[in-house]
Amino acid sequence: MTELKKVVQNGRMLKNTGSWLYCGTCNNTVGYLCYSTYQSFLFEFKCKCGCSGSFDLQHATTETIEDSLAELAQKRNRLCCPHDNAPLFTVVEKNIENYSYSVTCNHCYSRFAKRKARDT
Ligand SMILES: [Zn+2]
Ligand SMILES: [Zn+2]
Repeated sequence: MTELKKVVQNGRMLKNTGSWLYCGTCNNTVGYLCYSTYQSFLFEFKCKCGCSGSFDLQHATTETIEDSLAELAQKRNRLCCPHDNAPLFTVVEKNIENYSYSVTCNHCYSRFAKRKARDT
């Protein structure tokens, strides 16, 4: 993969391109990103500590990205591409109030998204 564009707001990553994702305020884990299977990853979270943050990572690509209506497949706690079973990321649900994501698999270039549950 080529160059990576990365914007992190109120968050911290254990490694440069993947691994554990932390809330930048309370340092609890909010997710885990697999290093080598995403072309892009956007994750917005509201932590149980009250703070919100986001991770936005994008590898440059010339491939055509297709929005998929399919749901990600859940294998244990890992969300995987339903087309090729590539493991993509994990959400640490117990530490966060709500979240949304958009992730593109770098095997099939399908993009999967989930919008945040509305605050009521
Ligand atoms: Zn927090
Ligand atoms: Zn895929």
